Amino acid sequence: MSKIMAITNQKGGVGKTTTTVNLAASLAAAGRRVLLIDLDPQGNATMGSGIDKRDLEVTVYHVLLGRKTIAETRKNSEVGRYDVLPANRDLAGAEVELVDMPQRETRLRDALQAVASEYDYVLIDCPPALNLLTLNGLCAAKSVMIPMQCEYYALEGLSDLVNTIRKVRASLNPVLEIEGLLRTMFDPRNMLAQQVSDQLQQHFGNKVYGTVIPRNIRLAEAPSYGVPALYHDKLSKGTQAYLALANELLSIETKPITVA
Ligand code: ATP
Ligand code: MG
Repeated sequence: MSKIMAITNQKGGVGKTTTTVNLAASLAAAGRRVLLIDLDPQGNATMGSGIDKRDLEVTVYHVLLGRKTIAETRKNSEVGRYDVLPANRDLAGAEVELVDMPQRETRLRDALQAVASEYDYVLIDCPPALNLLTLNGLCAAKSVMIPMQCEYYALEGLSDLVNTIRKVRASLNPVLEIEGLLRTMFDPRNMLAQQVSDQLQQHFGNKVYGTVIPRNIRLAEAPSYGVPALYHDKLSKGTQAYLALANELLSIETKPITVA
């Protein structure tokens, strides 16, 4: 069964897109079949996968409005070796158009049903807002990965997000769970980052991934070449961290089922 994961945090610039793109590439490099869904009108995950958002005639926008299927819309990221359901600024209009539509929160979930079995992992890059697009991501997903920077206000934002996830679980998607919290752009020399990281572990225990993503210039450079960092500088600390995160996910995936 495919693992469908929303990568979300309503705070901007915390590393959602960097995580989605590099995790997709790392899982694909490990032989997994991956679909990346770009739910952000900024189209950064699309561009970072080597697909030019300006050249697209159909995008996730057409899928959400029911005009196209995912099979008709997806592209292959040749460089990343995964499929992409791309986005561009067209998607900015979707919010308004969806409001009056039936099942407006579950349109992505419904569209995904036809192709989900073709993939081992579906990773959904959400925009920095708790809006209807993000809600579609949370309804389509079975779990949520929350990238976060270990800053002073990070925990406050986290409680809003956890409340939203609870509400979605209560009303629209009862199976939704928090997969894990990912510490991004981490600088171990920063005392505050260490303290926030410690607090995170106290509050969320084993929901915090063991893998930490360091601040690394190669991760920031790679999108300007339209490639995941794995194909920009394989040995960089950033690339290695995302490979380690993929391994952490795969080790959970392959954990034997214990019978009590
Ligand atoms: P948005 O909320 O706008 O969608 P985001 O949460 O998707 O942002 P990213 O776009 O992934 O965040 O990252 C924000 C910026 O930080 C980008 O310029 C990215 O290249 C850079 N960045 C992300 N992770 C790292 C890292 N570990 N080290 C250095 N730079 C990083
Ligand atoms: Mg983003």
